[in-house]
Amino acid sequence: METFTRLESNVRLYCRKYPKVFTQARGATQLDEDGNSYVDFLSGAGALNYGHNEPRMRDAMINYLSGDGVILSLDMHSAAKRRFIAMFERLILTPRKLDYKMQFVGPTGTNAVEAAMKLARKVTGRRMIAAFTHGFHGMTLGSLAATGRGSSRRGAYTSLSDVIRLPYDGYFGPALNTMELIRKYLTDPSSGFEVPAAFLLESVQGEGGLNVASSRWFEELVDFAREIGSLVILDDVQAGCGRCGTFFSFEAMGAVPDMVCLSKSLSGSGLPMAMVLMRPDLDLWEPGEHTGTFRGNNLAFVSAATALECFWKDDTLQQQIAAKSDQIRKRLEAISARIPGSRVKGRGLFLGIDMGRPEGAAAVLAEAFARGLIIEVCGPHDEVLKLMPPLTISEPELAAGLSILEESITALELAKP
Ligand SMILES: *Cc1c(COP(=O)(O)O)cnc(C)c1O
Repeated sequence: METFTRLESNVRLYCRKYPKVFTQARGATQLDEDGNSYVDFLSGAGALNYGHNEPRMRDAMINYLSGDGVILSLDMHSAAKRRFIAMFERLILTPRKLDYKMQFVGPTGTNAVEAAMKLARKVTGRRMIAAFTHGFHGMTLGSLAATGRGSSRRGAYTSLSDVIRLPYDGYFGPALNTMELIRKYLTDPSSGFEVPAAFLLESVQGEGGLNVASSRWFEELVDFAREIGSLVILDDVQAGCGRCGTFFSFEAMGAVPDMVCLSKSLSGSGLPMAMVLMRPDLDLWEPGEHTGTFRGNNLAFVSAATALECFWKDDTLQQQIAAKSDQIRKRLEAISARIPGSRVKGRGLFLGIDMGRPEGAAAVLAEAFARGLIIEVCGPHDEVLKLMPPLTISEPELAAGLSILEESITALELAKP
């Protein structure tokens, strides 16, 4: 520990919540160097939807390395990239009747968001991006301007500009449809709101507290955007790649965004990779107008293509997600019924309990970790316990994780017997 505390910057965070040194991991199980075992309900913040070291992905990467496959190709053509693009078209886009072009960007989620914001501004000639309350989009200045979280914004010490902030679905409670407000603001030429280049949003707010946008609200937003000539950018960095039950989080909704940002679980193996999908007519980039050295991480292309082949050829995974989602939701409803002021939130395998107060959530996080469960909190006050197990978690691992969660809550006397 001393090596870290003496030499690594104070900025580190997760290691404070899970203060052990980790060595190995497989599926939903992680080991520390003292030989303790943990069930992982964090999944690399959503970057390990298929679990740790999925054997088929791992073997595909080992084979690629052993064959001296090109590792970094900038944006040159490579066979590994072609295989991924073709696979993505065949297994993801075509079956869903989606028509998008793919832009590979620097390898993290914020790179995808920055590129999408930039392209939306270029295409529309407008300056403002409309982002939402409790939205999270990344930590570089453009995406940070769109992020709501105060503790992250405070670190900027410069202007976070050219973003207007609108109320997300349900922000004022179930009785007020925030689309009515948004429509009023943006159609009144003297409201003081500039009509935006794009609306940038998550369909389930991962960091913001597992707030779910209803289909009706999302459809209204997309219709309204068309009316006023604005684009819709869906940030599916965390909610995508199966987390909400389908490959894209918007598949259950009756509207299609103009651009989609993907990263986190896109490579499937935990290697960094990010992509923007755009309607083909929006692809007005000049060659080299937006670049980045690490846009050609071929090991990530190899594992990403393998992930698609292993998990998205048919609807087996989707059915498993639906079954596990039901199972977890029922269990959480039962636990929540015993905790005054709490409620269950989220959808798919993106579920949690709003504990009603941050101290409760923080205490459960610590107690659960001591008992062998890695679980995170989210929400504006860190008041929501967030369950994000690998989509492929085995039945025994899931049962063990849920038991530890329930035992921790009981041990802390947060729930009525
Ligand atoms: C994690 C996340 C990002 C940022 O991704 P990084 O890889 O951390 O830059 C952007 N949007 C959403 C919704 C995220 O969850």
